[in-house]
Amino acid sequence: MFEALGNRLTGVFDKLRRRGALTDADVQEALREVRVALLEADVALPVVKDLVTRVRERAVGQEVIRSVSPAQQVIKIVNDALVEALGGGEGDDGKRGLDLNAPSPIPILMVGLQGSGKTTTSGKIALRLRTRERKKVLLASLDVHRPAAQLQLQTLADQAEVTGLPIIAGQTPRQIAERAMDVGRRELYDIVILDTAGRLAIDEALMAEVADVKAFVKPHETLLVVDAMTGQDAVNTAKAFQEKVGVTGIVMTRVDGDARGGAALSMRAVTGAPIKLLGAGEKLDALEDFHPDRIANRILG
Ligand code: GDP
Repeated sequence: MFEALGNRLTGVFDKLRRRGALTDADVQEALREVRVALLEADVALPVVKDLVTRVRERAVGQEVIRSVSPAQQVIKIVNDALVEALGGGEGDDGKRGLDLNAPSPIPILMVGLQGSGKTTTSGKIALRLRTRERKKVLLASLDVHRPAAQLQLQTLADQAEVTGLPIIAGQTPRQIAERAMDVGRRELYDIVILDTAGRLAIDEALMAEVADVKAFVKPHETLLVVDAMTGQDAVNTAKAFQEKVGVTGIVMTRVDGDARGGAALSMRAVTGAPIKLLGAGEKLDALEDFHPDRIANRILG
């Protein structure tokens, strides 16, 4: 991902690198191209404007034109602004990864549209927490609309070698959540991952169901799973979930595809929620930490 944007910016900055000194006009021209490249990479317009304004202010303030290596300096300023916009600077204090600082059992609520990779990501997180953090994990599907989804989660639980909450037909999502938390408490689980139902598009019934479960469970993390391939739609989805349900973090899936990465920048800006993890494949171990600096480097090629 981000390759299209990377190629474009590389072209711009190659041109800058070839020159000995930069004029004001050069900087303006570079920023114009940065702006177009970001727009073409699906970054939302207000986010682009904000980023370019910040870069311009800093470039002028730091007197780029008179510096020893002006092109390098412009690149650094753009890079820093991208890292910041992607959530960098929050440091390595754990804020970027999953927050597990709460009494057990810690409820993690998974939300998102159908097909976003929500169920797969639930399995991936379960595997990671069991193997890396040595946690005892319970997986529960609240998708009463699609029995296949419940079976799919059980299969993933088996693969991840964690427990899946037994399915009881006829229970409401809230009843399943209640049962999961009961089992979690009684059987001393560290983590209870609740995989909610998705829909093909945002609808009020979905939002109401998820909001109801959330109000009842009071999850420590509410993770929104979004498909990076859906570009601007992913941003709109994130906005809707943030407004109607409230999320603590975002997991962006299918970054192994050739999606343009602008969605990451926009989602971060539009929701204020950090991107916590990336899904990079169908396999259960294809879950990556989100590193804003690495992504920004890739953007700049
Ligand atoms: P849900 O409806 O949101 O629960 O979506 P699923 O978890 O069932 O995923 C839908 C499809 O996307 C499945 O075929 C998954 O294997 C696939 N998938 C999930 N995450 C990723 C990912 O990060 N990369 C790729 N390439 N495929 C993924």
